Amino acid sequence: MPLPPHSSSRRDFMKRFAVGAGAVAAMKAPAVLARVGERVPPRQKLGIALVGLGYYSTQILGPALQHTQDVELRGIVTGTPAKAERWKAQYGIPEANIYNYETFDRIADNEAIDIIYVVLPNSMHAEYTIRAAEAGKHVICEKPMALNAEECRQMIQACRDAGVQLTIGYRMQFEPHTQEVMRLGQEQVFGPVRMVQAGAGYREGRADHWKLKKAMGGGAMMDMGVYSLQAARYITGEEPIAVTAQAHTTRPELFTEVDETTMFQLEFPSGALATLYTSFGMGVNDMYTTAADGWFYLRPFSSYSGIQGASSNGPFDFPQINQQAVQMDEQARSIRDGTPMRVPGEEGLRDMIVVDAIYQAIESGERVEIG
Ligand code: NAD
Repeated sequence: MPLPPHSSSRRDFMKRFAVGAGAVAAMKAPAVLARVGERVPPRQKLGIALVGLGYYSTQILGPALQHTQDVELRGIVTGTPAKAERWKAQYGIPEANIYNYETFDRIADNEAIDIIYVVLPNSMHAEYTIRAAEAGKHVICEKPMALNAEECRQMIQACRDAGVQLTIGYRMQFEPHTQEVMRLGQEQVFGPVRMVQAGAGYREGRADHWKLKKAMGGGAMMDMGVYSLQAARYITGEEPIAVTAQAHTTRPELFTEVDETTMFQLEFPSGALATLYTSFGMGVNDMYTTAADGWFYLRPFSSYSGIQGASSNGPFDFPQINQQAVQMDEQARSIRDGTPMRVPGEEGLRDMIVVDAIYQAIESGERVEIG
């Protein structure tokens, strides 16, 4: 049934997702409200340890963890003693909760740590997720989940065997404008989706970085292409049945091992199509969907903040949130309450099945069917 015009409003969003206080407050210091004289029971926060203190942990996740209400930063795993000292001083992390890659498995004995967040190069995601599971800890693993679908299956199995939850750091799935385009597409508010176009990328020029190395899981497709792929999958709510793909480079001296720009096209069972791209050569950041009776878009669509969009019913009006704080809080609540994850390991696996097919299509120049 079509929704009334102007349904994409802030108020509707608040009602549907019941996030008024939580999502928006995550941008500010958390506040516990109580009447004068009333005792406030301490909220039971889970403890998280970040593994790998590079760009994303340092610039984004550490600061975001200062705004979470259901989880807090209690531990770190790093191979660099100077970083350990800096984090210890900045965030007051006790010595007992600081590990390196050799002592990592001892985290099994640390009751303060409930969740391990794997923020390492992509080639290390499988190993550290499996070791974290074997240590009896719940796992948040960064995107892309692993190097290929086979590794993803091993990670899912390890977490199942250990009885711990596994979730992927797909922050966009927690973002209000993004949740709205998921709803517009999946509920066919403008009729069936016909075409999703999406691009995600930036200019990467660090010659010596692991993102340019194949063995480390580098390349634009692995790094940013998964955002375009996710968009096509969460807007249609379908799994692609076939893919064609092409890789290009304008800097062959830099991109000797991995793709600089990849374009890929997906066919879905309903007949919906997606034309998607990703790049380490240029800044691209938008999504446009054409449905039978309308359209909707996001621009920017994969940034950490400032997501904007509109549909043929008018502009969106949703709150801006701290994506990572909202993501980690909800993941922690799912762990604490034993409820299903919004983005379970299986979601990362579904992407990697398509990514495997994309590489096969680039290699062969053929259309590859996905079983
Ligand atoms: P980075 O290179 O800045 O950090 C990687 C960290 O891993 C560094 O601290 C490095 O010292 C450590 N490391 C440990 N062993 C290493 C080894 N053998 N080789 C190289 N580094 C090693 O990378 P990043 O940008 O922080 O990315 C880390 C992960 O986070 C990646 O999976 C990436 O896709 C993901 N990420 C996600 C987002 C998001 O928005 N969800 C954003 C950025 C990065």
